Amino acid sequence: MMSEARCPVCKKPVVAQYRPFCSRRCSQIDLGKWLGESYRFEAPPDDDEEVFIRDDKEEDE
Ligand SMILES: [Zn+2]
Repeated sequence: MMSEARCPVCKKPVVAQYRPFCSRRCSQIDLGKWLGESYRFEAPPDDDEEVFIRDDKEEDE
């Protein structure tokens, strides 16, 4: 029977003290991943720059 869980970060066997991770470091790495992904999602695209360039051109001509 496979009752052994694996750390989602490094795939090592989980240590009960740090479930569901194998160590405190891996739990912090996983938390950082989530925060990083949500930041990227909310980051504005580069489309805003195009609008600024268009405005400048219209004013010049
Ligand atoms: Zn781990």
